[in-house]
Order: sequence, then structure tokens, then C-alpha cells
Amino acid sequence: MSTERTVRTRIAPSPTGFLHLGTARTALFSWAFARHFGGSFILRIEDTDVARSTQEAVDQIIAAMQWLGLDVDEGPFFQMQRIARYREVIAGMLQAGTAYRCWCTPAELDAMREAQRARGEKPRYDGRWRPEPGKVLPAPPAGVEPVVRLRNPQGGVVAWDDLVKGPIAIANDELDDLILMRADGTPTYNFCVVVDDWDMRITHVIRGDDHVNNTPRQINILRALGAERPVYGHVPMILGPDGDKLSKRHGAVSVMQYADDGYLPEAMINYLARLGWSHGDDELFSREQLVAWFDGHHLARHAAQWDAAKLGWVNAHYLKQADDAALAAMVRAPLARRGLAMPDASRLERLCALYKDRCTTLVELADWIGMHLVDVHPAPELLAAHVTAAVTPALVALRERLATVEWERGAIAAAVKQTLAEHGLKMAQLAPAVRVLVCGRAQTPSLDAVLEGFERAQVLQRLAAARLPL
Ligand code: GLU
Repeated sequence: MSTERTVRTRIAPSPTGFLHLGTARTALFSWAFARHFGGSFILRIEDTDVARSTQEAVDQIIAAMQWLGLDVDEGPFFQMQRIARYREVIAGMLQAGTAYRCWCTPAELDAMREAQRARGEKPRYDGRWRPEPGKVLPAPPAGVEPVVRLRNPQGGVVAWDDLVKGPIAIANDELDDLILMRADGTPTYNFCVVVDDWDMRITHVIRGDDHVNNTPRQINILRALGAERPVYGHVPMILGPDGDKLSKRHGAVSVMQYADDGYLPEAMINYLARLGWSHGDDELFSREQLVAWFDGHHLARHAAQWDAAKLGWVNAHYLKQADDAALAAMVRAPLARRGLAMPDASRLERLCALYKDRCTTLVELADWIGMHLVDVHPAPELLAAHVTAAVTPALVALRERLATVEWERGAIAAAVKQTLAEHGLKMAQLAPAVRVLVCGRAQTPSLDAVLEGFERAQVLQRLAAARLPL
């Protein structure tokens, strides 16, 4: 792999919607590769599909990149702001003879293809306007605007050593004289990509393998421009659990949906990195480790499959090891979405510490914390199963004790113990009843710690329900 030039990679999304998981993964690989080699990572917005591009999508893409922590060194650059540059390059190519004007009308092209098909040939542009030494071209027809075509090399192959797929070679004769500029003066997709990659001095193009067919065409344009070509790496698609390309049908495919669903950016980075790349058997690694390891090797040739359960497992790991203050800051959003009054920062941190070990997402963490902030309504089945006549007197007694003890975990634990001894009950009999009444669920972390997380008045009020005839 050539690393003599300073590494420059890019992500080039089209702003026609949110940042898709597949694009995010390509962005991650491009970013990590640039960071590994101390190079630059560039954001380019490919907005030439004017009808489908929106500013809202641009904003969403940038927000998702920021959320993931994929910082860019240059850009965003917008293709629509570079049209003059594309025209300038076209003019240079026409002058150099590496591109030429073609006046074929759509009707003529249709007829050409029809005739080729009738002869059992592969339909292709027949080169009728392609200049050749000694060839006399027809006179340009009046009233027809020409397109500009690449004078694609004839014979030989376009070959490159793909970072992911290994050596690939395509015969030039398989490639048409590609249109670089349409009759209305708009440059075409492959041409803009090439001029951009050239101008932006991109050294490594890492992209989805849905672009692999574009690469020989792009290389031929670069060759015509006398430009140094980047190294290409085509990453296989991400598949859904059923083996089809990952799509909405399989669940959320927008990065920001995962943010809303309570996934941590570090978990997304870790999980996405493992979709199509590996470092030995390592499943959990930090962003810094990824950057240290990501040198363009060990990219998988086979497609990766989305595994929601594994993402959940990775997210749970990052929740567990997250700093409480950082978690408290992150859980504010899901709490606020429920319209809950926010506890002060230190209480919120303590609650995060209490529950983070048993959550898969921030949304689940918000569920736990929410029971401290609004009344709970225990399900009748839970009440019937746990708040039985056998424990009601103990609940009443515990409530009385808790009314006066110091509101601190040790004292609360002692109060529970005394009550158990007094009533000849076991923890496993009393604790679920307290949990159901106070928390609305029969399982929680350690009872004394959970009770301490509530205000005393809340606990007393919720336990008072035990006086009710059941
Ligand atoms: N705009 C293209 C896409 O969104 C990316 C092109 C490229 O990476 O070369 O798929």
C-alpha cells in the first residue's frame, strides 16, 4: 500500500436522506484509516441530484457524523458549488483530445442499440463521433446540443489492486465512451467524483462495493487527466438477518435513530467497525485502539450481517463502563422526551450508577430512573403475587421504621433486617413486595440502594398502599 503521499480519505454522501448505517461504516473506515496514518479526512456532499438533495439531509448527515465523533479536517465541500471547475476540466480534455463532443440524439442512440440487439450484439455507443486519425467526422447537426464523451482507451485492461477485493482487471473494450457532460451542460456523476478526488488529492477511496463498476471508468478518466490515481477499497454491503441488503425492512437504518433509541456513539463505532473488519478476536475496543489498528488490512471480502442482539451487547458494555457524570448528561434527552422533571445532577449520577449495569440502552436506563420521578402503577398481577396478606404487617412495620431512620443505605438496610427478624420473614418474601409497591416491578438492584435513591416521602407514600385491603 502506498503511504508515501500523506493519506487523504473522504466520505462523499448524497444528501437525499439521513446518514445510513452503511455510509456511516464507510465513513468510519475512511476516518480511522486517515487517523491511523496521521492524514486528513474530508467530507464531500454529492448534491448534483438537485431534485432529491435537501439542506435538511445535509444537516442530518453532519449531525450524525458529529454524534459518532467522526471529525472532518476539510469540508463539507459541495459539488454544486464546483460546476465551473468541472466545466473547466471538460474544456481542457476537449482541447487535449481525451474527450470529444457527440451529437447523437436520444432517438439515434435508441436506433443504434436496437440495430445492435437485432444483430445479437451487446448494445453500446458505436463511436460514430469519436475522432480517429484519418477519420472524417460528420458535420454537426444544427439545433442539437452535444454531450461530451470520454475517449476511452481501446484494447488493454484497467487493473487495480483493491484494498479489500484484491486484484481486479476489466477489459477496456467492455467500457463505453462514457458521457462526462450532458447536453444541458451538467457534468455526470463519475466525472464529478473523479475531478473531486483529483482536486482534493484523495489518496485512498474506501467505499461500498456497489461502486465497484464505476471504478474502471473513473480510473480511465483519471488517466486521461494525467492524474495520480488513489488506492481503491470496496467494502461489501451490510446485509440484514435474512441475507438481503440491510434496509428499513430490517429495522432502523438511520444512525440518528440509534442515537434516539439510546445507543452510545462509542458502542456504534465499536459495533460498526466489526462489520467487515477485524483485529484478531477482539470484539470490544476503544476508538483509540481502532485508530491504532486500522491500517487497511483485515477488511473482509464477504458481506457482514447486521446483528441487533450483538449491538445491544456492545452497548450494554459501554453503558456499564461509562462514567456516571457522562451517562447522566446523556440520559437527560430520553428523560426530557418523557416530559419528566429533571433531578439535580448529583442525584441523576447516583441513579445512573445504580442502574447502568442492567441496561441495554439509555432508553432502558431512563425507564429505571423514571420510576423515581413519576408515580408507578404496579400491575394487579404483581400486587397479587407479591403483596400478600403474609407480608402486609411487615410492610406496615417497615414503613414506620423508614419514617424515622437516617435516609442512607446502611440505615435502610438495618431497618429492613430488623423488620424481617421481627416478623420471621425472609428477604425473598419481603423484598419483592417492597419493590412492587415502590418501583412497580419485582426485580431491582439491591433494595437498600434503590430505596436510598428515592426521597423518603416517596417511599412512605408508595408503601402506604400496603394498608389497602388486597
Ligand atoms: N455519493 C456516493 C454514495 O453516496 C459515494 C461515491 C463515492 O464514494 O465515490 O454512494
